[in-house]
Amino acid sequence: MCALQQHLLDVVVSRATVLKASWCSCVLLAFAAPTTGRRVIADATSSKRGGFEHPEEERRERRRARPVPRGMAWRSHGTDNDSLVDALVRNRVLKTRKVIDAMRRVDRGNYCLPFSGQNAYEDHPLPIGSNATISAPHMHAACLELVHDRVTENARVLDVGSGSGYLTSCFAAMLDQHDSYAAGSIRAEEVEDRRPGLSDTKYPIVVGVEHIEDLVDFSIKNVKKDGKVKYLEGPEPLVVLKVADGREGYPPYAPYDVIHVGAASPEKPIKLLKQLANGGRLVCPVGRGWQSLRVFDKDSNGRVSEFDAMGVTYVPLTSAKEQTDGSKGLFA
Ligand code: SAH
Repeated sequence: MCALQQHLLDVVVSRATVLKASWCSCVLLAFAAPTTGRRVIADATSSKRGGFEHPEEERRERRRARPVPRGMAWRSHGTDNDSLVDALVRNRVLKTRKVIDAMRRVDRGNYCLPFSGQNAYEDHPLPIGSNATISAPHMHAACLELVHDRVTENARVLDVGSGSGYLTSCFAAMLDQHDSYAAGSIRAEEVEDRRPGLSDTKYPIVVGVEHIEDLVDFSIKNVKKDGKVKYLEGPEPLVVLKVADGREGYPPYAPYDVIHVGAASPEKPIKLLKQLANGGRLVCPVGRGWQSLRVFDKDSNGRVSEFDAMGVTYVPLTSAKEQTDGSKGLFA
């Protein structure tokens, strides 16, 4: 099968799956589209675009910019969590030990509605209520792979549109690599440093921001069901799940080393970029209708460069009202 046929097949498969996922108000990878591989240098607030400075840099970015190998989207089905992760590894969507371990330790079945059964381990989004879905596993895997090297020991992570809480838990599992995190295990002086708003102090935290209260409640239940109650406990928990409008980011814990956005921003997410730490990476679908998964890197001087990782179709970042009354459609 030639590349074009393969690509068309992916589009058809993905569309069918989109329809299958009923409400479809969430992340839906539509196609592993050819990437632009284009490097853009700009400061966080400008829209000035530029080109690659070196051919080698361009080649590197082109390679990196394809987190899901062509033809491998929507194919990584399992019947339980381990076989799902195995399929993602086999299909080269998952490559990094830290990400693989995290996805093994977070059981997707605990973040889906109870009647989802084995479907929870198939490679497509599933409804979770409130006109939202849990994203497809290959999208979760691709996004984690894109940011894995920034999720270091003391990283701060913001997950915008945290929905089921699945990806938020994966980030926490990456920070808790040896499954040894214990609530309250932080030394007293560090606790002192961990007050919100002290952005120059270093400690690990994953903040999930979701604008539908029912979904935040659902995500908290899911984290507990997955045996990770310790992440939520203690004076300074590793995981914080908040009801808030993610378009504003979440200033109390900013700046973040990693920001992941689980719904599409119609344009460059300037407010979120302002909350990205120097050296940090923000991954966000950008555009209306057909979008690209855009990766923004902020260097040590605060300069931002960006590239498109792949074509995607996510639901838009909306107001809670638009989402619940259904006035904002899938391809808004
Ligand atoms: N990543 C999550 C959910 C992705 S779906 C998961 O896989 O489970 C997109 C999510 O973004 C939905 O839960 C939706 O409610 C949320 N969302 C949409 N607009 C938002 C906004 N303005 N602020 C916060 N969350 C938003």
